[in-house]
Amino acid sequence: MLVTIDGPAGAGKTTVSKELARRLGYLYVDTGALYRGVALAAKEAGISPDDDEGLKNLCGRIDLKFVPNDRGASLFLGGRDISNLIRTSEISMLASAVSARPVVREFLLGLQRMLGRDKKAVFEGRDMGTVVFPDADVKFFLDASVEERARRRYKELCRSENMTLEQVEKDIRIRDRNDSTRSHAPLRAAKDAIVVDSTDLSVDEVVDIMISHIKTAG
Ligand code: C5P
Repeated sequence: MLVTIDGPAGAGKTTVSKELARRLGYLYVDTGALYRGVALAAKEAGISPDDDEGLKNLCGRIDLKFVPNDRGASLFLGGRDISNLIRTSEISMLASAVSARPVVREFLLGLQRMLGRDKKAVFEGRDMGTVVFPDADVKFFLDASVEERARRRYKELCRSENMTLEQVEKDIRIRDRNDSTRSHAPLRAAKDAIVVDSTDLSVDEVVDIMISHIKTAG
């Protein structure tokens, strides 16, 4: 079984996907981390998100990989663990910008499909069910109101960054617009996706709903 979970920023995809993968005993793959990894590498190399030639070159030479650990997996860029470095609001916005570039999407498409070749995995992202794994066994689109998504992201970020709830909500609205209006692989629910609105649901309630759909499909 290959399960995909797409949806906008802050809908709870990461928490839910991790828990779902744990309960199923499946591999969990956070594809947003890969876009964040490319964004960090571009920033460090001084490459602007609209420099296609520079990004193409960068993608040709970077080595991004997940290394399993006791909490799941860490993302490595070359020999360096970048798991924490990619979790800033600056990298969120940069990831949204580089993810609109076809050269970056093409590079990560191959990598993601390779990671999914043995199935038994939960893939989380924006275009998992529409582009990367159109034949996935069960597809979910996890959504929530923009206010609730901003509140969740704010709670996560306020430990490390000095941002107001208004700023976080503004960033989320900008990312939503970037992600859903880009011409390549825009954020949208696949026709055969099951839409789950997590606004008023707990993590366990969302995971229970998903497991029941997966059981029906299997
Ligand atoms: O999920 P996360 O917020 O970590 O993703 C960061 C950014 O990466 C998103 O805003 C989106 O622009 C991009 N992304 C994407 N396709 C994916 C996963 C993430 O375009 N499959």
